[in-house]
Amino acid sequence: MSFRIEPTAHPTPDADRKALLEAPAFGRVFTDHMLTMRYTADAGWSDGVIAARAPLAIDPAAAVLHYAQEIFEGMKAYWLADGTPALFRPEANAARFNRSAVRMAMPELPEEAFVEGIKQFVALERDWIPSGDGASLYLRPFMFATEAFLGVRPAREYLFAIIASPAGSYFKSGSAGLRLFVSREHVRAAPGGTGEAKCGGNYAGGLIAQSVASQAGCDQVLFLDAREQRWIEELGGMNIMFVFDDGSMVTPPLGGTILPGITRDSLLQLARDAGVTVREEPYSIEQLKADVAAGRLVEAFACGTAAVVSSIATFVDGDQEIGLPAATPVTTRLKSALQSIYAGTAEDRHGWLTRIA
Ligand SMILES: *Cc1c(COP(=O)(O)O)cnc(C)c1O
Repeated sequence: MSFRIEPTAHPTPDADRKALLEAPAFGRVFTDHMLTMRYTADAGWSDGVIAARAPLAIDPAAAVLHYAQEIFEGMKAYWLADGTPALFRPEANAARFNRSAVRMAMPELPEEAFVEGIKQFVALERDWIPSGDGASLYLRPFMFATEAFLGVRPAREYLFAIIASPAGSYFKSGSAGLRLFVSREHVRAAPGGTGEAKCGGNYAGGLIAQSVASQAGCDQVLFLDAREQRWIEELGGMNIMFVFDDGSMVTPPLGGTILPGITRDSLLQLARDAGVTVREEPYSIEQLKADVAAGRLVEAFACGTAAVVSSIATFVDGDQEIGLPAATPVTTRLKSALQSIYAGTAEDRHGWLTRIA
C-alpha cells in the first residue's frame, strides 16, 4: 500500500515552527500535512494521499453528522535517545482501530496500510517532532462515515485520515497527583455497548460527567460499572491501576466495557517482567475505601498514551474524600521503566519500537 505524497506549497517557516515547538499545548497546534484515504463499498480503499492539511468538505447529510459512525486512535512519534524517530506499538493501534471499526459497523483498514500510512506521514513531518522530556508528536488517525444518506444503516462511504499535533507533557509536571471524581450519575459504558471501541460517541457521552467533575474541583472522572454502580472501570480516556502494600497490583479486567489501553497492556507486561503479581480482577469502590482505611491500598495511577502514567492523589465520592499516601515509588518505577523503553535506552524485549527511516 503506498500513498501519493504532495508536499504543501506553503510549509510553516522554520522559525515559526521552532517557536511553536517551544511549548506546545496539547491538541492546539497542527503540522502542515494530513493523510487521507477514501473507502466506498464498491471500490474498497483507494486514493491514499499525504498533502497539505486543509478543511474537509463533507455533505451536510454525511452519515457521521447524524448517526456518529466515527472511530479514532491516539499514538505518538518521538525521538529515541539515539536521534531516530520512533513509534510505540503501532501494530497494536492498527489492530485496535479495526476492532473499533467492526463494532461500529465500519470497514476495516488493512493493518499494513495503517502502519505504512503512519510511517510515511511521520517521515514527512519529522521536523515537527518536538524534543525534550515527555514531548512527542501526537498522531490522530480517525475514520468517519461520509455517505450522504439519512437512512439508518451502516454507511457505504468513509474517509480515513491522520493529523498530528506536537505535544509537551499532558499534565503539568510537578502537579500533586490527580483528583478523581467518582461519577454516580453518569456511566461511560454498559454491557453490550461501545465501551471497548475507541469511538467519539463514548467521549461525547462522558463530557457532561467531566464538566461535573471540573465543577467539583476534580481533574478527571472515575466511571463505575453501569449495572451495579459498584465496580471501578476507568477514566474518560485512561485506564486505572492500583498498588497494594504487599507490592501486588490490580486493574479492572477487560470485558467489553473498558477500553483495552495499549499503555495498560504494556505496563501489565512490564510489571510481570519485573516479578510483580498483577491481577486483572474487579475492584469495587467500597473495597477501595476499606483498603485505603486499612493502609492496604498505597498507590493508584491512571495510564494512557497522552499522559503515560499519572499518579492519583484523591478520590472524591460525594462528600467523602479518600486520600492516598504522597509517596508513589511503584508508580514512579513503572513509569520510568516504560519511558526507558520509549526512549530506546532499555532493552526492547517485546519488540515494541518501530524506528522510522
Ligand atoms: C485511548 C483510551 C485509553 C488509553 O489507551 P492507550 O492505548 O493506552 O492510549 C483508555 N481509556 C479510554 C476510554 C480511551 O479512549
